[in-house]
Amino acid sequence: MLELRPGCECCDRDLPPASREAMICTFECTFCADCADRVLGGICPNCSGELVRRPVRPEAALARNPASTRRVFNPDCATRKAG
Ligand SMILES: [Zn+2]
Ligand SMILES: [Zn+2]
Repeated sequence: MLELRPGCECCDRDLPPASREAMICTFECTFCADCADRVLGGICPNCSGELVRRPVRPEAALARNPASTRRVFNPDCATRKAG
């Protein structure tokens, strides 16, 4: 199950479970669409994996399986590009 982390790892912007701006890699490193696109070029800086849009979990499912509240923030992510 997806963790649905609460914010962008790069700029710490809030990314609520219903956000369509959230991008994740296969390990669920989580970024906003702006950072994923403009800063990271669609590639996760941690694992070099592909960033894809995080699917929105419907509210009923969210009640049973709440989103993670564990915020991950790496302010140096912009200087730590893959490759
Ligand atoms: Zn961001
Ligand atoms: Zn990753």
